[in-house]
Amino acid sequence: MKRLEGKVAIVTGSDRGIGKGIAIALAKEGCKVVVNSHKKSKEGEDAVNEIKKLGSDAVLVVADVSKENDTRNMIKKTVDKFGKLDIIVNNAGILVSGTITDLTEKDWDRQLDVNLKGVFLCTKYAVQQMVKQGKGGRVINISSIAGLVGFPGISAYCAPKGGVTELTREVALDCAKYGITVNAIDPGVIMTDMTKDMLSDPATKKSFMENTPIGRVGQPEDIGNAAVFLALDESSFVTGHNLVVDGGWTAR
Ligand code: NAD
Repeated sequence: MKRLEGKVAIVTGSDRGIGKGIAIALAKEGCKVVVNSHKKSKEGEDAVNEIKKLGSDAVLVVADVSKENDTRNMIKKTVDKFGKLDIIVNNAGILVSGTITDLTEKDWDRQLDVNLKGVFLCTKYAVQQMVKQGKGGRVINISSIAGLVGFPGISAYCAPKGGVTELTREVALDCAKYGITVNAIDPGVIMTDMTKDMLSDPATKKSFMENTPIGRVGQPEDIGNAAVFLALDESSFVTGHNLVVDGGWTAR
């Protein structure tokens, strides 16, 4: 028996990158998965097909996590399709660079909307559904080490990640009485579309590698494996925790 057989998960922002890595890792353990992106894409359909090839089931739901109606509908479509919701992984995120003096208000607002308000909205409607079901649940937020330590030039990215870290602790307290655990994963540098330009610059890559004692860049499956642990029944005593998966970056 696979370890997440019979469970249903939503992974936001899972048509590529870390979200896709998490969706695949959950599906390998038998979990049914709602793949999500804010836009219809071939990548999303490919992710669904990959999961089906693994012998699990999946569906693509297009929803912008920063829009309340979209998030409410995403939960409804999940329950219509799979009958319930056990796990939500709040992974969708964007990164817009800019120092504090040249960052625009529009870029600031958009990053706060997707990276922090999106976590609030998805969690709100997912937890309402889990409470109605009465069998506990799992909320897993993909934060970042940028929510723990500063990175120059990306303040509008770091600030909401710090917010997700704190929101995780607070919501864990609200949800404990329902048997719903709420945890975050704080990835270090992971090879995805978000980081590929930075990693293709030799000087930036060298600096990333010098800061990562384990000696390699992370892959989406590194975060997928951590998400599986937090999704398992066996992790039911772990809540309000930020699990750092960074190859040792913040241990230095
Ligand atoms: P990515 O750009 O490859 O993927 C982002 C995903 O989010 C895509 O699937 C995109 O469609 C989706 N998305 C964007 N806006 C959305 C919206 N409004 N509604 C729904 N979906 C939306 O990036 P990634 O590296 O895979 O990042 C995934 C998460 O991991 C983000 O929250 C990011 O901040 C976090 N993270 C990434 C790294 C890294 O090094 N790559 C490190 C730490 C944390």
